[in-house]
Amino acid sequence: MNLGKYSFGIGDRFAKQGKAQLAALIKAKQQGIEITPVWNKSHREHTIIGTEPEDTRKEADEAVTACGWNGPYFVDADHIGLKNVDLFIDSSDFFTLDVADYIGKTAPESDIDRFVKKHDKYIGSLKMAGIEQPIKIEREKAKAIAAKFLYAARQAGEIYRHIEAVRGAGNFITEVSMDETDEPQTPVEMFFILAAIADEGIPADTVAPKFTGRFNKGVDYVGDITKFAKEFEEDLAVVAFAAREFGLPKDLKLSIHSGSDKFSIYKPINKALKKFDAGLHLKTAGTTWLEELIGLAMAGGDGLTIAKEIYAKSLSRIDELCQPYATVIDIDRNSLPTAADVTKWDGQKFASTLRHDQSCKDYNRNFRQLLHVAYKIPAEMGGRFLDALEKHEDIIAPNVTENIYNRHIIPIFMMT
Ligand SMILES: [Zn+2]
Repeated sequence: MNLGKYSFGIGDRFAKQGKAQLAALIKAKQQGIEITPVWNKSHREHTIIGTEPEDTRKEADEAVTACGWNGPYFVDADHIGLKNVDLFIDSSDFFTLDVADYIGKTAPESDIDRFVKKHDKYIGSLKMAGIEQPIKIEREKAKAIAAKFLYAARQAGEIYRHIEAVRGAGNFITEVSMDETDEPQTPVEMFFILAAIADEGIPADTVAPKFTGRFNKGVDYVGDITKFAKEFEEDLAVVAFAAREFGLPKDLKLSIHSGSDKFSIYKPINKALKKFDAGLHLKTAGTTWLEELIGLAMAGGDGLTIAKEIYAKSLSRIDELCQPYATVIDIDRNSLPTAADVTKWDGQKFASTLRHDQSCKDYNRNFRQLLHVAYKIPAEMGGRFLDALEKHEDIIAPNVTENIYNRHIIPIFMMT
């Protein structure tokens, strides 16, 4: 199983845009950039929508057949733990082991000491290719990192071994994710996290840390871009170094969650990937449904009516919808239009308020974030919503393809 150097998480809330998503990757391939599609959908998303992991498999297989895609592709059981992994084990061949909730739970003192002793030779300063300043590692720091992350890495080991026992070693891709937490992980922390992952015998293909700054759902990066760029380069150096040092898969790469729409950091990411000749996995799944909504609004008539209804309901159930995403959204409620305002809008106004074009005066990042997490509302509409997606496919599909290709693939991988 080889994920390839570049891969994209393109999971799709309603399993309708597989072909339109894949069309973006086909366009990239025609330009010489190979990106492996990965349809990811989390337990949380399945539960909210009322779909099963098999539905994601079906969508992926159908899109691949319909488009004649002959490269590798995967179905990612996104953000799973021991409690729900079994639901995904037959239909997935990519597993994102989410152990963020175990960060800070401390392993026994003697285990922490043993871990630090085992990795004793890295105490001092670590010189890595591509990084000017050696990274300083003090013994106390190493111990504190072990106290914070060793237990979580062990939890990842348990989930990994559970999957391996069923699917067999080498038959699936493994990601370890720690992104859904409050504090970002530093490159030094990443280094020891990777040591602990290797100690657990997890052949991790990708690792998803929490990076510095805010990665809010569906909107641009918020934070210090220079600091991000420096840390991202250090992370790439750490990943390459740790893969060799600890015998992790040589293609080990970073995975960026909530990676869609982080336009202001795509340039430094692009530059760093080139500098380190590094691969990347980027999850962009959640925004495809916003393109569906934009398409419905643009269609006018019944499509626009549905779009407005979804917004009105989202607003009235804002607490419920935002609660599962509290760590990954920042909505200024005072800047949201009222439902009454939106009733008066035409399709163009709705679409331009939602579409992520920061040069457009209508664009509203709060409106966009709320709708990003509001997919429960159309899920409850059921057939009425799904039928509208099919009816207006000619408007929606090009939006989906263009969003992935023009706004993501080009700046991240193709700009020179
Ligand atoms: Zn995530």
